[in-house]
Amino acid sequence: MPIDPRHVKVLKADDIIREHADTQAWWKRLYLPAVVMGLGVTLGNMIRNLLKPGGLPTIRYPEERRDYGHRFRGRHYLKKRPSGEPRCVACMMCATACPADCIYIVAGEHPDPAIEKYPVRFDIDGLRCIMCGYCVDACPEDAIAMTREYEWASYEREDFIWDKEYLLNWRDEKIVEDGYQPYEGEIDKSRMSRGTL
Ligand code: SF4
Ligand code: SF4
Repeated sequence: MPIDPRHVKVLKADDIIREHADTQAWWKRLYLPAVVMGLGVTLGNMIRNLLKPGGLPTIRYPEERRDYGHRFRGRHYLKKRPSGEPRCVACMMCATACPADCIYIVAGEHPDPAIEKYPVRFDIDGLRCIMCGYCVDACPEDAIAMTREYEWASYEREDFIWDKEYLLNWRDEKIVEDGYQPYEGEIDKSRMSRGTL
């Protein structure tokens, strides 16, 4: 049978809330029982977690560390020549390959004509970086690598701009394994023009 719209009562949201509230007992409308029940759930979970911490989805960092997969990639570093200079020849391949556009390089003429160029400035914006590793793959000189380092929290934005000196030297103070590099071991370094200098 078709519904006659003249006999349909349209309720507004306020009417629904009022009608629902009128049917509730006064003590329910205080919401105190619901608050106490909610606190009971929280307390129950807290006691259960204290008695059985092994079942928690969280870990007690920094005492406990997560075991990340072998393909994990963390903060970069720049590799050095035996002289301590960067192996980087400022070719811009990494900056060109970077999908996050977070590598900034200023190239300069190297005094050694065999090397040609070197990075006067080499910055990585760690907050823009998506840790894809393309820069490492793109480098023809094996001059940049990533590590398994992930502890770089800071309150200051500037601390995430890793400049050349930092990228060259931070690993001297902290021993960190290299991160995943898909072509590691497959790169023929003898074919690199300046990488072994
Ligand atoms: S890891 Fe990816 S996003 Fe980060 S600097 Fe390298 S290429 Fe750019
Ligand atoms: S690709 Fe390698 S050599 Fe070229 S600028 Fe980047 S780090 Fe330097």
